[in-house]
Amino acid sequence: MASIAENISTVRDQITKAATRSGRAADSVTLLAVTKTQTPEKLREAYAAGQREFGENYLQEALDKIRILDLPDLVWHFIGPIQSNKTADIAAHFDWVHSVDRLKIASRLSKQRPEGLAPLSICVQVNLSSEDSKSGVALEDAADLCEQIAKLPGLRLRGLMAIPAPCAGHEQQREVFAPLALLFRELQGRFEHLDSLSIGMSADYEAAIAEGSTIVRVGSAIFGARA
Ligand SMILES: *Cc1c(COP(=O)(O)O)cnc(C)c1O
Repeated sequence: MASIAENISTVRDQITKAATRSGRAADSVTLLAVTKTQTPEKLREAYAAGQREFGENYLQEALDKIRILDLPDLVWHFIGPIQSNKTADIAAHFDWVHSVDRLKIASRLSKQRPEGLAPLSICVQVNLSSEDSKSGVALEDAADLCEQIAKLPGLRLRGLMAIPAPCAGHEQQREVFAPLALLFRELQGRFEHLDSLSIGMSADYEAAIAEGSTIVRVGSAIFGARA
């Protein structure tokens, strides 16, 4: 079995190749290591291999790891569903939140972002496959939600995120991402800080990069299948 360091190196190579095929710079794509259910030891291995951006789905598990690892140069991304009673801890302990799909949650995160910290970077989660998932704002409502979030002082609207239903085949995967990529390019003219398209996971990150992804969220291709 390949080590975490080997897997990170392989994924980074694939990212570079996919970016190059699309005429993009390799460093225009950030690799976010998704570490839900992984032990702090595994995160340390990834850290030793140069990984700095980590994505977590479950708040308590994430807070434990943030405290145990205690490394100053890590960037923590919250990527899971958000309940209202969790927003204060998310606002205090994370740098990014990718899974904002309601104004109510955004307002709470803004109010609860501690003074002295930079605004919390936000991606609006868009639902690209309505029958499969309850999370995410509809594509046609995403621009309005962005408009409202851009006004909140504790937040910085950085991008759009989606988790489409799994589908096989590079071209099919691109077709699913395409409407979001189009909306992203339209909105970039409207929102000053909008620079991030958070699409692509282990099975479809190459297609996502072809569509313009700037953040790929990769778990199992680095850490192996989750239990
Ligand atoms: C688990 C998860 C990932 C990573 O999925 P893999 O298929 O293991 O790469 C990415 N994004 C979100 C939101 C996730 O919950």
